[in-house]
Amino acid sequence: MNTAAAAKQNLTRIEAVKFEDFLSKYPPGEVQAITNLGISRSPNSTPILIKPRLKLHCPNSICSGVRFFDSYQTKKVPLSEKWARIFLHYSCANCRTHSKIYAIMARWNTDIDEGEAIKVGEWPPFGPKVSARVISILGENKDLFLMGRRSEVQGLGIGALAYYRKVIENQKDLIIDEIIRVVRRTGTSETHIEKLKSAKMENAFKDAVELIGDALPQALLINGYNPLALMDQAISKGSYVDNDIDALKLATALRRILSELAERVVRALEDQTDLDEAVNFILQHD
Ligand SMILES: [Zn+2]
Repeated sequence: MNTAAAAKQNLTRIEAVKFEDFLSKYPPGEVQAITNLGISRSPNSTPILIKPRLKLHCPNSICSGVRFFDSYQTKKVPLSEKWARIFLHYSCANCRTHSKIYAIMARWNTDIDEGEAIKVGEWPPFGPKVSARVISILGENKDLFLMGRRSEVQGLGIGALAYYRKVIENQKDLIIDEIIRVVRRTGTSETHIEKLKSAKMENAFKDAVELIGDALPQALLINGYNPLALMDQAISKGSYVDNDIDALKLATALRRILSELAERVVRALEDQTDLDEAVNFILQHD
């Protein structure tokens, strides 16, 4: 086996990724082999960095969804054995106003005839999209939740679990308030509202959950279970976990349940508003 082939075999243990995936889906900080970092005009010429089209979420109100992002930089960036520091500017191809900037270091590894890159940083910062409905239930703990989300995508389970636990404990009162709104709007019994109000007085999330018991409207149950009790169980299990892998599973479960609860609260309130409008419409046109 020649040197290039041996080196390539050595490197393929870390799987090479597409440049567009590296930019849009990978967190900063790790060296990554890239399958399509550069392109050479002829076999012996210097490879030139490519700027692939990306699919990213555009928060602009006219887009508000996944859109194509292109780099409009025309300057050619040659890749050599030496690490080069590169800024990549991208703009949403739809609205042309929202941009994304990446700072990367890149080189061409001639031993394996393939590119390598490290993401130094990006702006707006790396992190998966969190729905507006979830943000609405997070209040001033939104940033803690987003840090949890970033820890989660980087596999830092213990960190993610700690962030989510803090968010849930801090947001206990607001979450219960939102549930009370749903109970009021859907006309469930007054005793349920009293139970929920007294749960708010409890300092510990666990005690509040025990007090609430079955006082949750049907529309908020997840697979028939009280989501607050599920989150409480995940938090309790999390206090015995001492490794990132298990903590990550619990953190992901915790985040999913919290997100689903937020979605259901908003949906229940919206459905009720639609129903109110329908009833009013019929009554007015009687
Ligand atoms: Zn846009």
